[in-house]
Amino acid sequence: MNICVIGTGYVGLVAGTCLAEMGNSVICVDNDTKKLAKLRKGIIPIYEPGLEELITVNVAEGRLTFSNDLDKAVKNSLICFIAVGTPQGDEGSADLSAVHQVAKNIAKSMNEYKIIVNKSTAPVGTAEKLAEIIKKNTTFEFDVVSNPEFLKQGNAVEDFLKPDRIVIGSNSQNATEIMQELYSPFLRTGNPVITMDVKSAEMTKYAANSFLAVRISYMNEIANICEKVGADIEMVRIGMCSDNRIGSKFMFPGIGYGGSCFPKDIKAMIKTAIEFECEHKILKSADETNKNQRKIFTKKILNKFGQDLKGKTFAIWGLAFKPKTNDMREAPSITIIEDLLARGAKVAAFDPKAMETAKKIFSNKIKYAKNAYDALKNADGLLLLTEWNEFRHPDFDKIKSLLKMPVIIDGRNQYDKKQLKEKGFEYICIGK
Ligand code: NAD
Repeated sequence: MNICVIGTGYVGLVAGTCLAEMGNSVICVDNDTKKLAKLRKGIIPIYEPGLEELITVNVAEGRLTFSNDLDKAVKNSLICFIAVGTPQGDEGSADLSAVHQVAKNIAKSMNEYKIIVNKSTAPVGTAEKLAEIIKKNTTFEFDVVSNPEFLKQGNAVEDFLKPDRIVIGSNSQNATEIMQELYSPFLRTGNPVITMDVKSAEMTKYAANSFLAVRISYMNEIANICEKVGADIEMVRIGMCSDNRIGSKFMFPGIGYGGSCFPKDIKAMIKTAIEFECEHKILKSADETNKNQRKIFTKKILNKFGQDLKGKTFAIWGLAFKPKTNDMREAPSITIIEDLLARGAKVAAFDPKAMETAKKIFSNKIKYAKNAYDALKNADGLLLLTEWNEFRHPDFDKIKSLLKMPVIIDGRNQYDKKQLKEKGFEYICIGK
């Protein structure tokens, strides 16, 4: 099929590449010409395992191209995906200006029947609004489909190629059948395409993301109670997760969720609830607990080193909001580092993939270490903020020899308290 994907970010680039991989002819469109120039040179602007290889192959075989010519891309395509950002807008609502703009541009470029598929996370009623915008700007027939994306950054290619499920919200039989055909190669494993009405599909995405955010905040709250009562959250977690009604995913306490989705999606869900005068106590608490969890981590640092951090240096391992991505949108590391700098501390940081992203955020306010151990030199303590695999089994003797004080404050509960105590470390973590 001929497809265009408008918005070539984490979702659009992965979706476009994987759709090309299945034999479709895909034009990825973006209005960021610098990004497009890089992509045409084979420079991939984001880090996602396996993505670069797939892009190289599909570009070489002529199935995947990059363009800023939306008009031509739309005219050439039966299906036009919208995958632009929907960042947090006023009072927590989703800012839909880019989605609306793209819908208008698609409408103006239409030359025959098109299926316009919204992949951007957008509140209930968005597809209806898009249909209204498109109708005002074209005389051609069209259908609007909501096809929320569930990929996880850090595993996006794998998730897109082998999805747990595909949700298609459509009020048109024709569009539904074409979408089912498009996705059939991705579902050879027997996982389902779930078709539903448009509003339910839009709601599914917010309900799923909010639920995962609630799980994380729930575990953080339990961890904080464990700490006070003298229980060990790791043992409690294992005890809980062996119940298959609960399961083991998204049950890790830490410094709270970040990224471009959970924080903004739960806020947008709250905004929708307020708009429709619905109760939303659980959603609100999850959001507040998450914000507070970062403060609790900083408090642990202050309890150890005092309120005034002038003259102190901290080594930070991990800046990305989660492992296997270079993305730092809403990363807990940002809040924590800003807090440390405001209190007069110096920071030397290392992340396997997010160093360039961090430079755009902190410029010369922090030191960028060459590697994990380089960050430790003369630091008063190590703060672990992102649980990259390479931080899991470090050389503790080397850490001890490089740090001024053998203190590790672990925001991701990666290390064994007993082992570190035996090695002479002061080890502070979450919920123990
Ligand atoms: P992103 O910021 O990485 O990418 C958005 C892209 O759209 C950028 O390249 C930007 O230049 C481009 N763009 C913006 N306005 C444009 C316009 N008018 N015309 C053409 N291009 C334009 O965002 P993302 O992380 O890929 O997220 C996109 C959407 O998907 C959001 O609604 C997000 O909530 C949702 N989503 C994201 C994830 C994720 O893990 N990142 C997962 C599921 C859903």
